[in-house]
Amino acid sequence: MPPLRVMKFGGTSVGDASCIARAAAIVKSAAAEGSVVVAVSAMSGVTNRLIDAAHHAEAGEAEFATKLVAELRRQHNKALESLVRDARRVADVDKNLSQVLLELERLLQGTALLKELTPRALDAISGMGERLSAPLLAAALTELGVSSVPVSATDVIVTDPHHGRAEPLMDHTRARAEKVLRPLLKKGVVPVVTGFIGATLEGVPTTLGRGGSDYSATILGAALGAQETVIWTDVDGVKTADPKLVPEARTLDEISYNEAAELAYFGAKVLHPNTLRPVTAAGVPVWIRNSFAPEKPGTKITGRGGSNGGVKALTAIRSVTLITVGGPGIVGLTDVLARSFAATASLRSNVLFVSQSSSQNDICFVISSADEKRTVEALRDAFAPEIAEQTVEHVSANSDIAVVAVVGENMHGIPGIAGRTFSALGREGINIIAIAQGSSEYNISLVVEADAMQRAMLTLHKEFGLHEAASGSPGAHTEDRSAEQIPTGVSLRK
Ligand code: ASP
Ligand code: MG
Repeated sequence: MPPLRVMKFGGTSVGDASCIARAAAIVKSAAAEGSVVVAVSAMSGVTNRLIDAAHHAEAGEAEFATKLVAELRRQHNKALESLVRDARRVADVDKNLSQVLLELERLLQGTALLKELTPRALDAISGMGERLSAPLLAAALTELGVSSVPVSATDVIVTDPHHGRAEPLMDHTRARAEKVLRPLLKKGVVPVVTGFIGATLEGVPTTLGRGGSDYSATILGAALGAQETVIWTDVDGVKTADPKLVPEARTLDEISYNEAAELAYFGAKVLHPNTLRPVTAAGVPVWIRNSFAPEKPGTKITGRGGSNGGVKALTAIRSVTLITVGGPGIVGLTDVLARSFAATASLRSNVLFVSQSSSQNDICFVISSADEKRTVEALRDAFAPEIAEQTVEHVSANSDIAVVAVVGENMHGIPGIAGRTFSALGREGINIIAIAQGSSEYNISLVVEADAMQRAMLTLHKEFGLHEAASGSPGAHTEDRSAEQIPTGVSLRK
């Protein structure tokens, strides 16, 4: 069997006709080397506009829906006309787009009539953008002489009914992929599958959560046993740090699934957080590549994550709040942690960082600043009796902070990384407010003052030599790569 590759194109990679043409050229060159399944996002911005329209409909504003449908029709038709020359083919695709737009208009009008937006209706509406972009990309491929058809993921990806954040049911999805996609691949056809969406066993449309097309791609890859998944986006790959903070940040050649997960969690928004789940057990590589610069190799995500190297990357997040629950009186209380996290859990506020000193005088943790007010209120409620009798002296919040994390799977077992981190920051006079390191040792996280965040990043980036090519054996990277099946000689049609 020829090698099978799943390729996902994000919203900016199909943002207009010229982007779609570029994506089609990339797929064409990959299709010359083996089988390809494409997963595609909505054209950039479309999902936001759909969600916005759904909320306007909920408020009873039917005219808003009519306007959006007309705009989407214009936008997609314009792209279609510049991508496809053949009049018959234009008419076919146009018919397909019209059907989707009609369905969208009905859903929005229905919502406006009822003035009610159920999670189920919101999923049906917000997933329409992918149903509009997939026929365009498939048509662009056909235009390049690659036979291709659009496929709605509602026929392939079977999910649970958790609207807004559905999870795939892999056994059913595998069976559907064999039934719907495999015969196309056998005929040499490239299926262009809508990202982001799926449907329950009963056929009710669902979505995998915002940014979910990445996840669609690895779900399809796992279901079909693909050799690799390539996420085509608008950045060169995963960077050693946010280049806005650290101008000398470099694109990483290779990182591990665990490192990628740490980076995704701490704000490097390259991937939907569940993306690596379907491929981790099987060790199937995932690439992050730039569809605007396909000559660049991108970042490869694998089980091993490439050469040793210790520290791989840094992340920093703002808009977070450090909450402290403390006072000498809490030393003897055995349930402070349990009650604190029961409070955050009841609010579904996500805890990013936890630290407690062994004197147990206080515990502190970091949450998103958006949750600060509710969390502080919930904690003050939870500890009201102890606050009254002053066993708990304070529940305080400090939002003038940032969390900086040093990430690298192979840091464990390398002594001295924490030491170097603290000495370097100490030399710069940067005050560390709190520290946490999980026992998996993928990540050392530090709370610093917000003002010191960028300086901390610059200092650590230099300290660990992250601006230089991968430490260890750069040669090994080149060797690795040539052994892999990455699209070579991708040429762009002008
Ligand atoms: N179009 C969806 C979104 O904007 C899914 C994706 O882009 O991955 O969230
Ligand atoms: Mg998107």
